[in-house]
Amino acid sequence: MSRPAADASESPPRDPEFDVDLFVIGGGSGGVRAARVAAGYGARVMLAEEYRLGGTCVIRGCVPKKLFVYASRFRSAFDEATAFGWHLPPSLVAAKDREIARLERLYCEGQERAGVEVVRSRAVLDDAHTVRLIEDGRRVRARTILIATGARPELPPFDGIELGITSDEVFDIKTFPKKLVIGGAGYIAMEFAGLFAALGSDVSVVCRGSNVLRGFDEDVRQAMAGSYTNRGIKLIFCDNICRLKRRAGATGGGHNTGRIDVTTEQGARLVADEVLLAFGRAPNTGSLGLDRAGVKTAADGAIIVDANSRTNIGNIYAVGDVSNQFNLTPVAIREGHAFADTVFGNNAWQVDYSNIPTAVFSSPEIGTVGLTELEARAQYGAVDIYKVRFRPLKAVVTGDCEASLLKVVVDSESDRILGIHIFAHEASEMIQMLAAAIGSGATMNDLMSVMAVHPTVGEELVAMRTPTVRYDRRDASAALVSSAAD
Ligand code: FAD
Ligand code: NDP
Repeated sequence: MSRPAADASESPPRDPEFDVDLFVIGGGSGGVRAARVAAGYGARVMLAEEYRLGGTCVIRGCVPKKLFVYASRFRSAFDEATAFGWHLPPSLVAAKDREIARLERLYCEGQERAGVEVVRSRAVLDDAHTVRLIEDGRRVRARTILIATGARPELPPFDGIELGITSDEVFDIKTFPKKLVIGGAGYIAMEFAGLFAALGSDVSVVCRGSNVLRGFDEDVRQAMAGSYTNRGIKLIFCDNICRLKRRAGATGGGHNTGRIDVTTEQGARLVADEVLLAFGRAPNTGSLGLDRAGVKTAADGAIIVDANSRTNIGNIYAVGDVSNQFNLTPVAIREGHAFADTVFGNNAWQVDYSNIPTAVFSSPEIGTVGLTELEARAQYGAVDIYKVRFRPLKAVVTGDCEASLLKVVVDSESDRILGIHIFAHEASEMIQMLAAAIGSGATMNDLMSVMAVHPTVGEELVAMRTPTVRYDRRDASAALVSSAAD
């Protein structure tokens, strides 16, 4: 995924004018990787974290989310346990807290071993070379500064918004919500809708668009919406939450103390124990002193960077969600690593953003890499679509009627695979491996010539023989030139 950069930077000599060679603001995925690698090259590194080391992914993102997803998949087993009810979540929360504390300790030890000085403080810029620690007012002069402050939940203004929770709070709710309303239909909305429904909540999702997961392949979006509807999750499309109000008679001022009336723009009225607001995330650049340092931001507050994660100020860099490019943990980590190698290791390279695989941890999962069908049809003259829907073997025994979907998008001319989209159990694991195939230019013929592993879900991918449909923009008479049974 990396390639050499054209302008390899020299590892600069230590400069007595500065207290440190590198100051990292933010101890999340991108920041800790950059700090550790730079320190490994002998740089004097200081890192400031205002909350907990590990950042969003470890403390209130990927890791606790995946633990909750695992728990939600034991629903059928829980159903058999008489103790199950809402006694489950508190023990789940405790188990999650223990694991996160363990990971946080590992992060601290890793930084210490590498020689990074970690300070527990919010940090802001006073100028292009000076970082101020808010805790004690100390000013640190740094030759290079890396901003890795991540992002925070974005909240559109509407009445009663303070009654809602975001993904920052959802992992710590004390009472299991029997009725959950979710605003938004992106990654977080879909993952939490699925896992709370599996844990027993009555879930409604209010989505401003006409389908979930904008930007994903249309077939996958439809499969997900159909699957959720079948499972009893209410999807309300072309609508938006416009007001939250504590129900008359409900007591208390905080969350979980009473029911909430939810009103939508189209006039729907829902009742919820919790309302999860998942309207996207905004870069953490407010009150950071970027103006004092002269660092430019885009209209959404994201720090503008070049291919080397460098801002318009030569000695200031930014990695991860704060630059709002691909807001995923592995991307933040890789950007942090490329930055440290390039600036401190005399080994310049740039992150390759093509074919980034991603997964939605719903049940079944979505795994996706490369172009969607619509993107491919817009960019290529002729496109073959290979698509199969099937019931996994396990479903035959359990009586589950849920269909899985595998879809491969291929450039008809070269036979090169442009995209793969999966809605199936373990799709995240499959897509990780398939991304390697796409990255190395695999053709559909390569995929077909792989021997199947039987019985698996993945074998359906290598068993595809003829395109379900071919679109040819060069054929003026018809875009759809052939179609087999879907
Ligand atoms: P962060 O990890 O957010 O780290 C930024 C750190 O900076 C934070 O610790 C913050 O406290 C600190 N900070 C901020 N301002 C200051 C300051 N002024 N001074 C000092 N410290 C400061 N991605 C995936 O790839 N897979 C997933 O399954 C996945 N699941 C997710 C689930 C949820 C609920 C969420 C919210 C996100 C998820 N993500 C997932 C996205 C992933 O968490 C982020 O892309 C990733 O954490 C970004 O890393 P980062 O280093 O840019 O920022
Ligand atoms: P997303 O960008 O994925 O989704 C935001 C959702 O909120 C969309 O449905 C969007 O609609 C809707 N929305 C945005 N603004 C409004 C508004 N004003 N009113 C109504 N609806 C609105 O953001 P998430 O918060 O779900 O997640 C943030 C990011 O974190 C993700 O993009 C991803 O990068 C990362 N993440 C990754 C995960 C993973 O890898 N498994 C899991 C969780 C998060 P529309 O589509 O119409 O814009």
